Amino acid sequence: SIVVTGATGNLGRHVVEQLLEKVPAEQITAVVRDEARAADLAARGVRLAVADYNAPESFDGLFAAGDKVLLISGNEFDKGRVGQHKVVIDAAKAAGVALLAYTSALGSLTAALADDHKGTETALLASGVPYSLLRNGWYNENYTEQLAPVLQTGAVTQAAGEGRVASAARADYAAAAVAVLTGEGHENTTYELSGDTAWSFAEYAAELSRQTGREIAYNAVSVDDFVGILTTHAGLPGPLAAILGGVEASIAKGELAGTSGDLSRLTGRSTTPIADSIAVALKG
Ligand code: NDP
Repeated sequence: SIVVTGATGNLGRHVVEQLLEKVPAEQITAVVRDEARAADLAARGVRLAVADYNAPESFDGLFAAGDKVLLISGNEFDKGRVGQHKVVIDAAKAAGVALLAYTSALGSLTAALADDHKGTETALLASGVPYSLLRNGWYNENYTEQLAPVLQTGAVTQAAGEGRVASAARADYAAAAVAVLTGEGHENTTYELSGDTAWSFAEYAAELSRQTGREIAYNAVSVDDFVGILTTHAGLPGPLAAILGGVEASIAKGELAGTSGDLSRLTGRSTTPIADSIAVALKG
């Protein structure tokens, strides 16, 4: 089987959707926390397994020898994600899976956000399970799904200076994962996945202006001011705001700008330009 954790998340949904185009539904297992939210997948013949990274016993017997597994990183920053992911790694090892692919972060990223990914990579390599590190760059949707405040204020407020971002659409990263899960020869590989083109926030604001016909500027602020805006205006908890501030500093340093070409090589097509994702978002 091909087994996908986080299958009811944004990326997981794209992965399962694209797997369904390539392999029979009964060869796909979607690991979910809430079966009800995956009823549509079950109706299409996808197998469901209910498990939670916080409950190791829920992974007992979930994998079988020879499975190819995609571990999609969790989003519970306060629950010790390395320990959570290790639950999946241990279960995969016990079962003797053929491949465990993990959605990691780019190797160039030094922000604190990358710590859980580095910890998980270390645990995965130490396990001896055949692995593929899908080091994902930034999603276009990180920005294009957050347009409301931009349109409200007429400004893209970031603390990334002149830094560039080689982002791609979630569907592109999903296609890379599907290529690894359905292809051959991906054991013990590391891919630095990112968009084909890196853009700056000034260029992003200019593209938004072009598509909306409104004047939208890049409002470049300091990391401290950015964190302050996230906590006071957006109501984010301090620790999360600090993590996101660290990402801005990394972008300013060019840590998310690399264009290795790994993503388009794996998928066999160009990555989705940020302009296309903006157009999708503006259509609503
Ligand atoms: P989502 O937040 O949409 O999905 C996260 C998935 O993880 C969900 O399916 C969620 O389950 C699952 N999950 C979280 N905690 C647990 C748990 N304790 N046990 C089992 N499953 C769990 O994120 P995306 O799909 O957009 O992105 C996937 C991952 O990539 C994120 O979780 C994050 O680690 C990382 N990310 C990467 C970004 C990038 O730009 N590269 C940007 C944002 C996140 P459920 O569906 O039940 O909620």
